[in-house]
Amino acid sequence: MPEGDNVWRIARQLDAVLAGKVLIRCDVRVPKYATVDLSGLIVENVASRGKHLLIRIGDPENGSIIHSHLKMEGTWHVYGRGERWRRPTHKARCVLEVDSAVVVGFELGILEVLSRRNEDDAVGYLGPDVLGPGWDEAEALRRLRSHPEEPVGVALLDQRNLAGLGNIYRCEVCFLARVNPFTPMADVPNLERIVTLSKALLEANKDRSNRSTTGTAVGRHGDRFWVYGRNRCLRCRTAVVKDMLGANELALRDVYYCPNCQPLV
Ligand SMILES: [Zn+2]
Repeated sequence: MPEGDNVWRIARQLDAVLAGKVLIRCDVRVPKYATVDLSGLIVENVASRGKHLLIRIGDPENGSIIHSHLKMEGTWHVYGRGERWRRPTHKARCVLEVDSAVVVGFELGILEVLSRRNEDDAVGYLGPDVLGPGWDEAEALRRLRSHPEEPVGVALLDQRNLAGLGNIYRCEVCFLARVNPFTPMADVPNLERIVTLSKALLEANKDRSNRSTTGTAVGRHGDRFWVYGRNRCLRCRTAVVKDMLGANELALRDVYYCPNCQPLV
């Protein structure tokens, strides 16, 4: 499941092969952008903002951005030219080719091409980026605290508060802070610690493909998580509660917590 650490890593991989290179092929397989052709232009860089990926092409005034979001199934792959793709061709949504590599985005949840001048239209609403160069913890806290009634498990997923946490991290951060995810923000005693933990977990995982919040990296779920996806709490062996928690019906996501380690007070 994509979280900010995945997207950060993908941005680094794509930047390494695309930045400074001339696009020799640009194929955006979305009807609205079928006629967009950015070939001949130079890719300036590839960056992540929270869980959003920005491929900046051409100059800041006249250039374009390919903005994408993985949502649930999306991914980006890097191939050598002529190399066989590891996903079906019909699932490809964006194909970019430079002299040494082909970059393919599959099943992207969001894919749009914008003017670089309008980058803020795509990502300007996001809160401080947990893995971004301008990470601002005080601003993230301020935004989180502006929703006193909201369950902490909802506020942590709201990318307008802080950008980069997905469902796994909101569950694991709440566990590590010993806070029940249904606790209203106003009643959370250690919000600073929650934000510090969020940053620390994403930083610790950004360079690894086997995400872990426990320090071990065994098995598919194995002991990599304290409560997420587990039947029993890794710490106390109490049966983990699996429930649904989201800002509204559309945003409902599985939430996991240990009723012993994280009682609702
Ligand atoms: Zn427990």
